[in-house]
Amino acid sequence: LVDIRGVDKHFGDFQALKGIDLQIERGEVVVVIGPSGSGKSTLCRTINRLETIDAGTIAIDGKPLPQEGRPLAQLRSDVGMVFQSFNLFAHMTILENVTLGPIQVRGLKKQEAEAKAMELLERVGVGHQAGKYPAQLSGGQQQRVAIARSLAMRPKVMLFDEPTSALDPEMINEVLDVMVELGAEGMTMIVVTHEMGFARKAANRVVFMADGEIVEVAGPEEFFTHPRSERARDFLSKIL
Ligand code: ATP
Ligand code: MG
Repeated sequence: LVDIRGVDKHFGDFQALKGIDLQIERGEVVVVIGPSGSGKSTLCRTINRLETIDAGTIAIDGKPLPQEGRPLAQLRSDVGMVFQSFNLFAHMTILENVTLGPIQVRGLKKQEAEAKAMELLERVGVGHQAGKYPAQLSGGQQQRVAIARSLAMRPKVMLFDEPTSALDPEMINEVLDVMVELGAEGMTMIVVTHEMGFARKAANRVVFMADGEIVEVAGPEEFFTHPRSERARDFLSKIL
């Protein structure tokens, strides 16, 4: 479903991604880990074209990423993204946050969009908060709304870039639980996270990055118990 081949990305003289090759099957959950500055966020951002690439190709569902214009809007709705900061619109209610995209980009009628939004908000456990504003919700609740908002666009793949790292510890699991469930339901997901419990529970594969390269790809159990590369061993010894 996601086909990344030979992707390079430079920022001036600095090369942030070096020959990235990664193919992700429909329904697969891939966890990306690695030291700070290794290119994890940059990789996510190239997949929904928040960043352009200098070499290689990225295709979603067989379609190469468009360079600009209308097809890009379509692509962005095919690829949902949830960031560390929740990025909800502060002046809109929770319900309005979730219905905005479907009404404006997908052309849904308001009633239809609201019915679907309520279904998604219930599913992530914040249905009763629909009329409130983001600031009235906890961080964990806001992040679950952000997930519902992405899902409302019916994405083919969901990208998560450290979705729980801005949360207080007691709220981390309520967000991870939603993500585990989403993966179990068959959503294709790329998740940058250092939450090893999540990786063990939900990941089909773990991708370890360092210095802009994919150093190692393995199943979670194998990766955490027998990392093959020295750098992965070194990294794991620091975070576990
Ligand atoms: P972290 O774990 O800290 O989030 P990361 O693996 O997500 O790190 P990236 O954010 O992808 O790392 O950054 C990779 C490298 O590219 C870093 O050295 C960063 O300084 C550099 N970089 C990222 N974005 C830009 C930019 N817009 N301009 C210049 N350099 C950038
Ligand atoms: Mg990052």
